[in-house]
Amino acid sequence: MKPFERPSQPLALVVDDDPVVRAVVSQSLVRAGLRVREADCAEQVLEWVKDERPDIVLLDVVLPGMSGFDACRRLRSTANFRHVPILMLTSLDDVESINRAYEAGATDFIGKPINWAVLPHRVRYMLRASETFGALVENQAMLYDAQRIARLGSWSWDFRTGANEWSDETFSVLGYAPGEVAPGMDALIQRVHPSHRDAALGYVRALGAGERAAEASYRLELPDGQIRHVRVHSDLRMSDDGDVIGALGTLQDITESKLSEERIHRLAFYDGLTTLPNRRLFMENVAQALNRARRHNRAASVLSLDLDNFKRINDTLGHSAGDRLLEAVAVRLRDGLRAYDEVAYGEGALGIARLGGDEFCILLNDINQFDDAAKVAARIVRSFAQSIVIGDNELFITASVGIAVFPNDGEDPETLLKNADAAMYHAKSQGRNNYQFYGRAMNARASEKLAMEAQLRKAIERNEFEIHLQPKLDLRSDRIAGAEALIRWRHPERGMVLPGDFIPLAEQGGLIVPIGEWVLQAACQQSMTWLQAGLPPTPVAVNISGLHFRHRTLLSTVAKVVENTGLPPQLLELELTESILMEDMAATLATLRSLKGMGLRLSIDDFGTGYSSLAYLKRFPLDALKVDRSFVKDMSAAADDTAIPSAIIAMAHSLKLEVVAEGVETQEQMAFLKERGCEYAQGYFIGRPMAPKQLTAMLERSAKSAPN
Ligand code: C2E
Ligand code: MG
Ligand code: MG
Repeated sequence: MKPFERPSQPLALVVDDDPVVRAVVSQSLVRAGLRVREADCAEQVLEWVKDERPDIVLLDVVLPGMSGFDACRRLRSTANFRHVPILMLTSLDDVESINRAYEAGATDFIGKPINWAVLPHRVRYMLRASETFGALVENQAMLYDAQRIARLGSWSWDFRTGANEWSDETFSVLGYAPGEVAPGMDALIQRVHPSHRDAALGYVRALGAGERAAEASYRLELPDGQIRHVRVHSDLRMSDDGDVIGALGTLQDITESKLSEERIHRLAFYDGLTTLPNRRLFMENVAQALNRARRHNRAASVLSLDLDNFKRINDTLGHSAGDRLLEAVAVRLRDGLRAYDEVAYGEGALGIARLGGDEFCILLNDINQFDDAAKVAARIVRSFAQSIVIGDNELFITASVGIAVFPNDGEDPETLLKNADAAMYHAKSQGRNNYQFYGRAMNARASEKLAMEAQLRKAIERNEFEIHLQPKLDLRSDRIAGAEALIRWRHPERGMVLPGDFIPLAEQGGLIVPIGEWVLQAACQQSMTWLQAGLPPTPVAVNISGLHFRHRTLLSTVAKVVENTGLPPQLLELELTESILMEDMAATLATLRSLKGMGLRLSIDDFGTGYSSLAYLKRFPLDALKVDRSFVKDMSAAADDTAIPSAIIAMAHSLKLEVVAEGVETQEQMAFLKERGCEYAQGYFIGRPMAPKQLTAMLERSAKSAPN
């Protein structure tokens, strides 16, 4: 049974020495739904209540032995009996007896002769009242518990007498034992941390002066050095005439919630890895800085920083090394900016943030001019000159930084950050490891790029593309053994545009697929034309962009072009770069096998500039390897830089690949390559990329001169 739940039938104890009265009273109570016990003297009652607690006692005043008054008094002093209703039955209806009955602790009395109609109602009423009272007591106990758990104390202050009352919990919250000090504002102020003391005093004074004070929070410092946070709520007490006569309120220990609030704040506004502010906080800081700059008519700047080689380190050394590196970068940035930061922000490096990945941002507040931002950016870029050691690895990293200055490059945080990013990408395109300003020049470049992309979209239908062909010489027979198709854009205003200036743009805009298809078609058509003109079969090589290679239509396009032009497939060669081949090698292998299955030739372009896995090279069905121009260029007897090309040629042969040397510009280079057994050479020395008509003439000459 729960502590305050009663059995459904309340128990009444009827005490009267007159058996007739007892019987009639009992009967009327039983009829009213009560259980009854009877006693004929007070002594018997006192004995019983040691084990049992009735819900109500009906007690005759005049009893043999101990009187009803004395019995009542004794019952009241018994534990458990304080709140049990006691109804005195008395024929003494003088004022004095009535007073005595109440003084003895009686709840009510009823006169004899008893009014039988009234008695059950009176008893029921008293039971209900007692039940309500019991619930009240229980509620109070619960309230007390709740206050203890919530660390909520209550207090009151009587302005008329100056008296203060505190609940036990108020003492406890303030770190006093109950009753240890006289409750009052002095004892309260004593516990307030010095940094909050003036504010708390102000609060107390205002309250004492009858001002309605809002709620407030203060920091406490207890004698043992513990720091706590409390929140005070107060309200004024008014007399009936409307005069302020005091105040009352609560005092709550909010240390826990304050701490979790701080934790939540940390999670919401800081990067967990580096503990730097995150994007949200950074943007807020920028917004504030811009407001200040606006008011004081000053400049401010946002720097966007990206590590140049983070992805590679992350991929090769693993994510946890990557994380350590980011932490180290955060420390480096903090150190680098300390001198600046302390002036601008005081304690804590508010100016740096990590926006995610290897992207960091820096806010420069209140700067004088562009120069200030450039100085900081230069210092940051320089600070990476020193390697970072993570575990056993010494890592060399560089950073690219973009700068946007308020108000020139943007008037709100988003625009500034966007433009700082654009400047950062520009820094990357300028060879990384440097900083760049966002500026009019960049703006111009961006809009030029947009215009060019729009023109590029229309270039196919306007028939502005052409292919130029560069001959490939067979070093064994000294005959033209093929040609590489190189695209050109005959721009209506700019004239001839080289692929380096529009292929990246076409890749970004998704135009590379239709352009690649156009080149395939034009190249195959050309080779077919030679064949039909009776020239010796001359293979044509087409460069394939990585995006096109991975595109789902590549295989069907190639098949269609070969079929439509009627070109024998072995006269079409596709050139793929190392980086294309080494990405997603399983898919690469499948595509290469399908192309090979159609009868095409496949070669690897610009070899030596990327990273190749020999194991995969061996598995890929390739026919030729093109040694990158940079190795051929360095090759001369004087420089004696022949080790690499020699090694590449030897390796290619061991993999059963033919070798094409690119960028052959001198007789000397060609002689050397021939000597090393290189099969083909391509380069200005043999022939520049030229219009198809010219190459046709060259092929005709070559065919005539050759012995049949
Ligand atoms: P690539 O495939 O390595 O083509 C060779 C590039 O080197 C050509 O530049 C060519 O003009 C140049 N070259 C040839 N011999 C010499 C030489 O002796 N000395 C020097 N200094 N350069 C020489 P181009 O035509 O500007 O093409 C550049 C790159 O653009 C090509 O490099 C290729 O990757 C890409 N490309 C060209 N046409 C296409 C195309 O139709 N589709 C795709 N996806 N890419 C193409
Ligand atoms: Mg090529
Ligand atoms: Mg090449």
